[in-house]
Amino acid sequence: MPTASPLAFSGGRILTMQPGRPEPEALVVADGRVAAVGDREIVDRWAGCEVVDLGGRILVPGFIDAHHHLCLAALHPRWADLSGSTDIDDLARALRDQAAREPDAGWVRGFGWERAGDWSEKLNRSDLDALGLDRPVVVAHFSLHMGVVCSRGLEVLSIDRHTPDPEGGEIERDTGGEPTGLLVERAWSRAHAESLAGYQDPDRWEEHLLARMRVLLSEGVTCVHDAATPPAAEAVYRRLAKAGRLPLSVLTMPHPAAILSGPETDRLEGPPTGEGDEWLRVGPIKLFADGGSHPAIDAHRQGERFTNGIAFPGLTADVATAAARGFRLAVHAMGNAGLAATLDAFEAVARTGDDDHRFRVEHATLASPGQVRRLADLGGVAVVQPGFVALVGSRVSSLGFDDVTWMPFADLVSAGVPLAASSDHPCGEWEPLVTSRSGASRWTGHEVLGPEQAISYREWLHAWTAGSAYAGGQEDERGRLIPGARADLVILDGDLDPDRPPTVAETWVAGRRCHPSPEH
Ligand SMILES: [Zn+2]
Repeated sequence: MPTASPLAFSGGRILTMQPGRPEPEALVVADGRVAAVGDREIVDRWAGCEVVDLGGRILVPGFIDAHHHLCLAALHPRWADLSGSTDIDDLARALRDQAAREPDAGWVRGFGWERAGDWSEKLNRSDLDALGLDRPVVVAHFSLHMGVVCSRGLEVLSIDRHTPDPEGGEIERDTGGEPTGLLVERAWSRAHAESLAGYQDPDRWEEHLLARMRVLLSEGVTCVHDAATPPAAEAVYRRLAKAGRLPLSVLTMPHPAAILSGPETDRLEGPPTGEGDEWLRVGPIKLFADGGSHPAIDAHRQGERFTNGIAFPGLTADVATAAARGFRLAVHAMGNAGLAATLDAFEAVARTGDDDHRFRVEHATLASPGQVRRLADLGGVAVVQPGFVALVGSRVSSLGFDDVTWMPFADLVSAGVPLAASSDHPCGEWEPLVTSRSGASRWTGHEVLGPEQAISYREWLHAWTAGSAYAGGQEDERGRLIPGARADLVILDGDLDPDRPPTVAETWVAGRRCHPSPEH
């Protein structure tokens, strides 16, 4: 809803996210949009303008989380939180409570397993069978790329000793050939979808989404790219948008409920990238080149070849099909072998026409200098996670390679690849002002990982705003404080100092203050 009278912000720093341009002294908002940016005199030119004194604080565009699993994160209050569990007793307690709390949901679901990083025991189906629950139980790994199910769960999924591994996945087996319950990557897709199905009542999902969005606003997030939006979640977002109830903007990234799969034909026939409005728009189709818990790596260590992980089949064909139907593409590529397949697939599409494809690589967690150059040549965008320095970096710091680099943020920037920032929440921490610290310091929590790949805190704020808007094809409507852009704004307290990062004082959406909420 537009503001009644124009507003002018002045009295502090205004970062428009246009590098190289001088910082303006004032910004005027009218009808929910940035109307003017310039020196103090512009305030006088707007009759009846209400002045918001920044009081020395910093005004920036609203943050855009370019890779955030919002529709799943919103459901977390309904599942057992296992992110702090370090042993089976702990985990069992949480799952028993969960079963009692959600008696009608079908599956008993827990999330965040191994997030704490110090889980040392082997978890298998007999541990979950021992809970004595008369229902299928699933423990989702924090990466959402694998999970453990109980024997009942395997039955429901029709997985037994005779079931072959799907391409791109593994049904872990014991020495006798029996499934242990651990389902890896594409072997996990159906377990994820089926255990989700009992929690998708649209009314409750709406309320959970709204509650979650209010939390995001409190940290300055005014737009989210939902990085794998199943059809049921797209429907819930559409309902909210139609009723004018979305408190922030969402860009959907269509993907089947059976996560990590190729695109569904039905969805490819539906609304393509770009359809919608500033509140809810269809973004790129989300595809996966390789694993998340098992990224596909093919590199060298001390002269020796090192290969690991899982690459998914069918990427080139899926990319071509989706592009032909009018979709832009966002491909998860964590390992350098996953990235190699992604770049090949993008190059094949690029050869067929000179459109602005705005190819997105999600993560680009491990890349060679040559791959970074290829992505630059394609005009591609890297959707990276500063928080992964702590999350992934602490797990891989002993794994140094001769020819590829972990999280090559500085290499990407110097090659001219636009960087979009994101959290990958709930797999990673989500607060932009907090996670940017790790991206600027390269501190994993134990050591500094590749300090030469650090980029400044100021550059991270650019990635969270202008960079993410560009990744979403929304650079003219958000992400920069330029005339015509939507007035999604954040006022920051403090300095852009990664050691003592600023905090969010106020968040504004479409020219209205929504945090703290207006009645406070
Ligand atoms: Zn993700």
